Amino acid sequence: MKVCIYARKSTGKLSQNNTIENQIKICKRYADKNNFEVVDIKVDVGTGRDDLNRFEIQELVDESIKGKYECVLMKGISRLYRNTLKGLELIEKFDMFGIRVITIEEKFDSNKSRYSHGALDVSKITMYLMFSEMESNKIGERVKLTQIEKAKMGMWNNPTRVPFGYRYNRETKKLEKEPESASTISLIFKMYEGGNSIKEIIESLEKENKKPPRGKAWRDDTIRYILRNHVYKGNIFYRTDSDKEEVENAHEPIIENKRFDAIQLKINSRAKSKGKNNQRSKLMGMVKCSSCGSSMTYRYYHYNGEYYYYCIGYIKNGKSYCSSHKIKADALEQEVRQKTSKYLNKINNIKELKNKKLIIKNKISRLNTEADMLSNLLIENKVTKKHFQQGIYHLTNKIDILMNEKVEIEQKIRRCNFLSNFVNQYDSIIDVLLENRTLLENLIESVSVSNTGVFVTFK
Ligand SMILES: [Zn+2]
Repeated sequence: MKVCIYARKSTGKLSQNNTIENQIKICKRYADKNNFEVVDIKVDVGTGRDDLNRFEIQELVDESIKGKYECVLMKGISRLYRNTLKGLELIEKFDMFGIRVITIEEKFDSNKSRYSHGALDVSKITMYLMFSEMESNKIGERVKLTQIEKAKMGMWNNPTRVPFGYRYNRETKKLEKEPESASTISLIFKMYEGGNSIKEIIESLEKENKKPPRGKAWRDDTIRYILRNHVYKGNIFYRTDSDKEEVENAHEPIIENKRFDAIQLKINSRAKSKGKNNQRSKLMGMVKCSSCGSSMTYRYYHYNGEYYYYCIGYIKNGKSYCSSHKIKADALEQEVRQKTSKYLNKINNIKELKNKKLIIKNKISRLNTEADMLSNLLIENKVTKKHFQQGIYHLTNKIDILMNEKVEIEQKIRRCNFLSNFVNQYDSIIDVLLENRTLLENLIESVSVSNTGVFVTFK
C-alpha cells in the first residue's frame, strides 16, 4: 500500500521525543514492518494554528485523490492538535475523501474502526484524545507547581528570557546584574526621575550608543516596560491559577525600592493626565467593522474615560473610507455575552439531538424492514425483478441520506459532550468564556459591528 507520512510541529511544550524527525522515524519503522511503501513525507511547519484548511493538508488530500497514495500515516494526533475536536476533524476530513488514516500512538486505523453500516467510528479515539488532553493538562499543572516553588525561593524560571540588565546564574538559578546593560537601566530610571520624557530618554540613549535589548532599536514601549518592571527593584512574579504573586528581594536590585515606588507614582500621574490605554480587550482581534471589513481596535476615549472599539479603516483613511462608527467596549462585550449564551444553550441541547438521532434510527430500521419485505415478495414471486430493483434503489437512497444525517448528528453530539465537559465545571459559562481566550476562539469565528447591531458568527 502506498502511504504518505504526515508530521507536524508538536503544539505541546513537553515533547522532546515528538520532534518532526522522531515522528518520521517512527512512521518509517511502522511502514517497514507492515510492508507499506512510503511515497511521500509531508511536514507541516505552520504557525501552530489548528487550521484544517492549511496548505499542507489540502495538498495531501489533492494528491491522494489523484491516486498518489491511499493512506496517511501519523505518529499520533493527540499532541499535534491542541484541541481534541480539531484532531478528530482532521481524521474525518481524510476519511471523507476516502483516504485511510493510521495513527500509531492511538492505534487507530480508519479501515478497522467502522460501524457495521460503514460509517467511521471515532468513539475510541475520541476517548483516547480526551484522556491525553486531560493528562497533558495534569503534566502542565505539575510543572507549574515546581515553578511556583522555585519562584518562591527567588529563582528565575525562564533562563531563555532574561530581563535586560540581568543575566542568569546557572548555579544559583537566580538573576544577577550584567554590568553594561544594568548601567543603561539605571540611566533610564535616573533620566525619568529627572523629568525627561520618554522621547528625550530615547534620544539620549541613541546619542550615547547604548545597546537596546535584543539588539533592536529603542522604542517607546520598551522604555515604558522597563520603567514599570518590578524585576529592577529585585522582585519577581509568579502566576497561580487565580492571580499573580510577587516575591520580594529575589535578586540584587538595580533601583532601590523607595526610588522605584516613587517613580511608579510619577508614571501613574503622567498617564492619568494623558488617559493612557492600559486595559486589555477581551475580544481583541475578533471584532470587524461590517461596513468596510476592517478590524476594529480597542481604544481609550479620554473625553468620557470609557473604552471603545473603533474601525481601523476609519482611523487610518478617514471619513471618505468609512464612517466613524464606534461602539462602547462594555456594550459590545455584553452583546457577545448574551449571544454566546443563547448559542451555547441552543447547541448544548444534547437531549434534543439524541431524540433526533433516535427518530432517524427508527426511520432507518423501518426502511430496512421494507427492504426485507420487498425481498420476500421477490422470493415469493409476488413482484417483478424490475419492480424489486426500482424499489430497492429507492429505499437505499433514502437510507443513505438518513445515514449521513445520523453521522452529522453524532458529530454534533460529540461536540456538545466536549463543550459541556468544559462548561459543567463552572457555575457561569459566560465568565469562563470571556476569561478563556482559547475557548472563545474555538467558539467564535468573528464579531461584526454594523450600524444596526452586533453580529456574532459561531464556528
Ligand atoms: Zn469601517
